[in-house]
Amino acid sequence: MPEGDSLHRAAQRLQVLVGQRVEVETPHPRAAVKGLPGRLDGRRLEQVEAVGKNLLLHFEGGLVLRSHLRMKGRWRLERRGTARTGKPWLVLRGAEHEAVLWNGAVLELVGARGAPRLGPDILGEPPDYETMLARLRAEPEREVGDALLDQRLVAGIGNLWKAEALWEAHVSPWRRLEEVDDSELRAVLEAAHTSMRASVEGPRPARHVYRRAGRICPRCGGIVRSASQGANARTAYWCPGCQVGGNAPPS
Ligand SMILES: [Zn+2]
Repeated sequence: MPEGDSLHRAAQRLQVLVGQRVEVETPHPRAAVKGLPGRLDGRRLEQVEAVGKNLLLHFEGGLVLRSHLRMKGRWRLERRGTARTGKPWLVLRGAEHEAVLWNGAVLELVGARGAPRLGPDILGEPPDYETMLARLRAEPEREVGDALLDQRLVAGIGNLWKAEALWEAHVSPWRRLEEVDDSELRAVLEAAHTSMRASVEGPRPARHVYRRAGRICPRCGGIVRSASQGANARTAYWCPGCQVGGNAPPS
């Protein structure tokens, strides 16, 4: 699952095309039906930005192409004319490089003001913690591990960094938001920001609980657990020894 930090890396790679008029192709049949080349080919690419889990490509004339990677989508930057097999969803070709989107899932043209309603970006510099807290506070009944994945509340946190940030802040994913005070919630958000920012700029930081069920917690020696959580049944990872409280399922 691509996380917000991999979107930011893709946005960084695509910066070499910004300012250029690009050739636009949609080789994959499911992308071809969208008629994008007719509207975008030859336009200047003005800006590429990651907003939460969306990559927004701004073209001259106020056109914005939104790409959401879902589970399998990948952006690659290659030399112009690189041979490839298969049919990518989208190719943006500049003078020397081409950006290639594989397994696109979501690719749609939106107006400049048509971007989806997202919470503040966890990778913002600085992140808008006050608005994040306000949005999270609007849903007091929800479990914190579930709410952190809701992109309308906070944009960009995926399952990996959610699990790690909760562990860093000693907060159980099973506590309801009304049971988590502001300083704890802010510590979770700050931990997510710090780890994800480090991951954008270098190798991924070490994991402590994510996909480590049954192993020893490096902080307290407890046994890390996993269980399905929330309406979307995402897997929560936590250490019951140092992330206590909340309505955790029985082991
Ligand atoms: Zn522990």
